[in-house]
Amino acid sequence: MTQPAVDLAPDFARLRDPDRDTAIREITTTIVALPSIRRHRLSNTEMSTREFVLVRVRLENGVEGIGEAAVLGGPRWAEESVESIKAVIDRYLAPGLIGCPAAQWAGIAARMGRAAIRNNAAKGALETAILDALTRTLELPLAALFGGALRDRVPVLWALASGDAEQELEEARAKLDRREHRDFKIKLGFATPEEDIARLTRLREGLPGMARLIVDANQGWSEADCRRHLPALRDLGVSLIEQPLPGDDYEGMARVAAQSPIPLMVDEAAFTHREIARAGAMGCGSVYSLKLVKSGGLMALAEAARVAEAAGMELYGGCLLEGSIGAAAHLAVFASLPRLPWGCEHFGPRMHRREIVRDPLLIEDFHLHLPTGPGLGVELDEDALAEFARSD
Ligand SMILES: [Mg+2]
Repeated sequence: MTQPAVDLAPDFARLRDPDRDTAIREITTTIVALPSIRRHRLSNTEMSTREFVLVRVRLENGVEGIGEAAVLGGPRWAEESVESIKAVIDRYLAPGLIGCPAAQWAGIAARMGRAAIRNNAAKGALETAILDALTRTLELPLAALFGGALRDRVPVLWALASGDAEQELEEARAKLDRREHRDFKIKLGFATPEEDIARLTRLREGLPGMARLIVDANQGWSEADCRRHLPALRDLGVSLIEQPLPGDDYEGMARVAAQSPIPLMVDEAAFTHREIARAGAMGCGSVYSLKLVKSGGLMALAEAARVAEAAGMELYGGCLLEGSIGAAAHLAVFASLPRLPWGCEHFGPRMHRREIVRDPLLIEDFHLHLPTGPGLGVELDEDALAEFARSD
């Protein structure tokens, strides 16, 4: 008797010719400006509206993927601005990718590398959109490309960055009361170190429910500032100090780290794998902040995690205030990492009054929850996009 044929992979049936079906048909970019819930200050910038570039990639099979290219208030955190990102993708990256199969994403990354150096936010968003479209085609979550999710949620901190201690106390208490955040990152470097310490002291005293207290000077302190104020930070129970010195001062970071009782985190100092390896080997810090805008792609982000660990650094899930699209992209990698002892800082989805997705990511019980469903797991809200797309 003849056995009926067993269809082992019915979901793959429509992917009869992966290269043809996943060939990139169209790439479009849109600058989006979303209103924030409050102004956000860093040592060298501040903003109350967050702009980013939405990248949409459509494959020959009709499936669309999306990606988010983040900046912090213009070309100040790194070289890229929303205008440069859009121009680089439209003119230099997209034309060379039309017709390339999304199923061959290593080749796509190599093409982008040849078409433009750095421009990491542009490349990262474009690769995200391509991998989103590919995994939607395969009906797999994006995390499957990184080995699959090892966790369905990640601890998430909240950043206090208005500079006004009383406002920050009120904001943090609301987060604690709603059980959304108990770890806080305080932005320093836009007042004198003495004023920053006074503000930190007020926050520590006023927030007994706070768990981890992390500070980020965004390259705004000198080595002498660190020597003067590290004891006070230790006495305040600070868990982690992020990039106090300029990113290119590897020697200074190494000297501060060697003396510091508090771990230092490497952020702006290391974008490339070689920079990460060098920062670790020189002892510039014992924690590394992972960011898509530093790695220039999700595949490179997952690799960066391995390089950082091999160089002796623990992992921290960094952000550039991405909304739910960018946060979901990071989470696909973060969820697949064997170790992520510092959790993540993807509070961006809560920094906006409105988003351009129908299903913003969930923050509950002090964790950011991995979305479910194929690809990124978030869906565009076309009406909101039409409302917030920048017209000029
Ligand atoms: Mg930082």
